[in-house]
Amino acid sequence: MDQCDLQRDKKNDAACDIKKEHHCSVCGKLNPATICHACEDKIRAEATEHKRDIERK
Ligand SMILES: [Zn+2]
Repeated sequence: MDQCDLQRDKKNDAACDIKKEHHCSVCGKLNPATICHACEDKIRAEATEHKRDIERK
């Protein structure tokens, strides 16, 4: 049970809705997902580059 569910049990849906607003864990911008699309693309590009680096060695 997460914080949101605990608040819902207390019939405090308004506070719960505020808690539902997520921020990108990378850039900190308000975002519905854990990581925004811009950062997701960046991470994916870096991962691909890293993989290429390993394969080269
Ligand atoms: Zn981001």
